[in-house]
Amino acid sequence: MLDFSSLLLAAALSGICLSITMFAIWFAAPRASFVLTVGCGILVLVVHVILFWRYTKEPDPLLCQVALALLSLGFLVICLSAMQYLGVPDYRRAILPTLAAMTICAAVTSLGLDGVGFIVTYVTVTVLLSAIGTMFWLNGSHDRKILLVVSFLGGTCAVSFALCAVVLVAKGQWTLGAAPDNWAERLNSVVAVACMTGLGALTLSLHHLQAQIELKAETMTDPLTGLMNRRGLMSLHGERAFGPFMAVVMFDLDHFKKTNDIYGHPVGDQVLCRFAAVIRKYARTGVDAFRLGGEEFAIVISRVTEERAYELASKIGVAFGTEIVATSHGPLRSTVSGGIGFGGANGNSLGEVLAEADAALYAAKRAGRNCVVSHKRMGKAEPIKPALRSA
Ligand code: GH3
Ligand code: MG
Ligand code: MG
Repeated sequence: MLDFSSLLLAAALSGICLSITMFAIWFAAPRASFVLTVGCGILVLVVHVILFWRYTKEPDPLLCQVALALLSLGFLVICLSAMQYLGVPDYRRAILPTLAAMTICAAVTSLGLDGVGFIVTYVTVTVLLSAIGTMFWLNGSHDRKILLVVSFLGGTCAVSFALCAVVLVAKGQWTLGAAPDNWAERLNSVVAVACMTGLGALTLSLHHLQAQIELKAETMTDPLTGLMNRRGLMSLHGERAFGPFMAVVMFDLDHFKKTNDIYGHPVGDQVLCRFAAVIRKYARTGVDAFRLGGEEFAIVISRVTEERAYELASKIGVAFGTEIVATSHGPLRSTVSGGIGFGGANGNSLGEVLAEADAALYAAKRAGRNCVVSHKRMGKAEPIKPALRSA
């Protein structure tokens, strides 16, 4: 059977190996800053374990205070790394209560109530670990299986620290004068080593997952405008059945080749970015925007009537018509044409709706450009509304 010192040594060694691995990963991929934070947190815990081991040999009150402060600090840093990874921005919500708990712990320990200091610290760590488990469970947007394991390990480790606090409270050990040594402490050392090693290994999986997600997002993003590209459109809507209240509007800038020829390609690029900004401004909830290629754009609108789709497409066109790009040849105004296709009662494919929108766009070009045509009105006798022509 391992003695308490051997357990602490195992914890320290496993922590050192883990933090070295984290630093190496961060060195290779500096963008994954949460890995660096995890490594720092584990390193703080390693220092805690070494000081705590020293405290078991030589019970010095100052050593006790520092070791307890480092235990809270280490788990605080690990909690911050989880927030960093999950994009939970308000770090103060973790930092302020932990600092308050560390202050209380230092105060009671200096008054000789080191048992209470241990209890406060164990409760703090329990709360931080529970927060990590809960955050992963609630905020994670990817693989539920990995999130479940992170939550389970965080929760198990939290329970083992809670048990240490419960045993001290049950025994009424408000003053210890030495390191607590009971079944809960031994169980906690084993559980903490296992869970922290597991969490460390999972950090690698999470890092890998994040890199995959970032790469996928990159392949679906148009680098010039930042809108999603055609691949993004396929990925989001390719498998979807378009009902009658779903519309696709295709936009094509008018005489864009001339813009490039007269003003130059860089100005053309600026015009494309302006149009993307206008689309983004109007593409709110239920509207996804894409640059299909060249000077062709599309928006997919969910839960919309024909009138509303027409109104939105017209607003985008009018807003773009008022945009002015300053060039060396003087101010440049551009226009855009739009064509709207709709889903059907039996559910049309994206390809079918895009073909409708494309036909309507072609009709808008033939009608003189700078206007929007709805495919539903194309076959009818009514004239195409030149809605975008501004006075
Ligand atoms: P229409 O009104 O009939 O649409 O005429 P158009 O000149 O806009 O049509 P066309 O399709 O002939 O021209 C598209 C031009 O878009 C041709 C190409 O040089 C330009 N283009 C494609 N991609 C880019 C890009 O990323 N940046 C710039 N500046 N121009 C681009
Ligand atoms: Mg074109
Ligand atoms: Mg064009």
